[in-house]
Amino acid sequence: MFDIAIIGGGVIGGMLARQLSRYQLSVCLLEKESDVAMGATKANSGIVHGGYDPEPGTLKAKLNAEGVQKLYDVADEIHAPYRKNGSFVCAFGTPEEEATVRALYERGLVNGIKGLEILTGDEARALEPALSDKVSLVLHVTNAGIVCPYELTLAAIGNAMDNGVALKVEFAVSAIERTQKGFAVIAESGARVEAAYVVNCAGAYADRIAAMVGDDFFTIIPRAGEYMLLDKNEGARVSHTIFQVPSAEGKGVLVSPTVDGNLLTGPTAVKVGAPDHTETTPAGLETVARLAAKSVPSVNFRQVITSFSGVRASEKRGDFIIEPARSVQGMLHVAAIDSPGLTSCVAIADYAIELLREMGLATVEKADFNPVRENPHAFREMSDEEKDAYIKAHPAYGKIVCRCETVSEGEIRDAIRRNPPARDIDGVKRRTRSGMGRCQGGFCMPYVMRLIAEENGVAMERVTKKGADSYQLIGKL
Ligand SMILES: Cc1cc2nc3c(=O)[nH]c(=O)nc-3n(C[C@H](O)[C@H](O)[C@H](O)COP(=O)(O)OP(=O)(O)OC[C@H]3O[C@@H](n4cnc5c(N)ncnc54)[C@H](O)[C@@H]3O)c2cc1C
Repeated sequence: MFDIAIIGGGVIGGMLARQLSRYQLSVCLLEKESDVAMGATKANSGIVHGGYDPEPGTLKAKLNAEGVQKLYDVADEIHAPYRKNGSFVCAFGTPEEEATVRALYERGLVNGIKGLEILTGDEARALEPALSDKVSLVLHVTNAGIVCPYELTLAAIGNAMDNGVALKVEFAVSAIERTQKGFAVIAESGARVEAAYVVNCAGAYADRIAAMVGDDFFTIIPRAGEYMLLDKNEGARVSHTIFQVPSAEGKGVLVSPTVDGNLLTGPTAVKVGAPDHTETTPAGLETVARLAAKSVPSVNFRQVITSFSGVRASEKRGDFIIEPARSVQGMLHVAAIDSPGLTSCVAIADYAIELLREMGLATVEKADFNPVRENPHAFREMSDEEKDAYIKAHPAYGKIVCRCETVSEGEIRDAIRRNPPARDIDGVKRRTRSGMGRCQGGFCMPYVMRLIAEENGVAMERVTKKGADSYQLIGKL
């Protein structure tokens, strides 16, 4: 019996688990996929939004404003890479767009955001030479940044597990029953977890989880966003994140560097039927290319190395829904966490804990809580001399597995052993970047498979790309 079961191992469930792990509580994180960070958290823009965009008075405005610094602070503790690169919101010469830039500036002040300034097009181009000469007015948001969303989530969950949180993957919740002491959370497989409190962090599936206890007061509207990611030789095309003025459809197509040094363009915003929609389309990608070129005409789309799509868990009210269940006591919904959910994740987790306290949860701090997670990329950051010395003591670090991203065998073995352990090829990829480069795993995949097989003591035929039956080998010739 756990004190709390969290449904959903995205950035919200993961950060909640991490923030709860500082208390004397038994916490279990339940995730339906073979790894964490597999929903919206895997496929988004990775922007730490400054907080000028949400309507004042909404939960989004409050938690975005509180969330930026909280995110940077936690990211420092758990060694999740981020960069405060600042963002631009651009108007392209029309009086309406320029009025929107000024209105966003005013809204940002109302939301309590510091570090906002308005720049003329020329002032902005002095900072960002590749910006289109059609850009006439810019909101410069100096506290905005970029973060790798899945690394942040892996780091939060790793730190939570190091502090005692239990993680159960391939636990697809299919029913929730009341028991005398709380809830029984039941998986499709028949597995069962009992807990006094349940928190619903199921992203685009949150309304389905709510329906399991009879709540139907919100409905998730899945909205997909398609992206194109460009090679690192385009990564320095811009240093700021470049937005266009937002529309009713969202924050529009951006051009941004990523923390790993690539260039990201996208997303579109299209309503889709399924919460697990991952398709990209020729029309969507053409829209991304056209709108990205409007802001930064020199982007070289011949350097695209992959495309992907993520689903926003939107809701008709347009705000986060963080409130107790209405049909049962002891359950909390943390739902409709679309953008700026990543930015707000620590503030959302802290707010959810406040609500759990109001619902009766006792939170007593642990004396031995360790907020720090060891830096998994310490080797990457060493000088050549330091690497040389380290390799002498740890030879596996001298064997390069992924040549595009220079990832060693030692780093991959660590990723398979460290919390939360990588169990499949994509799990290794998200933790180490092996397979993320120009060749997209063409060269390193067999080597990675051998390491996963060795570390887990299984045959290579049993190694999957992303859980379930995604086997890569069918037998020996
Ligand atoms: C295109 C796009 C761009 C975005 N850009 C930004 C941005 O730049 N900045 C920003 O701040 N925010 C951004 N966001 C929003 C941000 O990505 C989300 O707010 C955040 O990832 C939501 O995290 P989550 O944990 O709520 O959801 P998810 O990451 O979707 O996690 C939910 C988890 O629940 C699991 N689950 C579902 N059903 C079950 C079940 N029955 N049993 C067990 N587990 C289950 C899923 O597998 C999933 O892992 C963007 C979102 C999208 C889609």
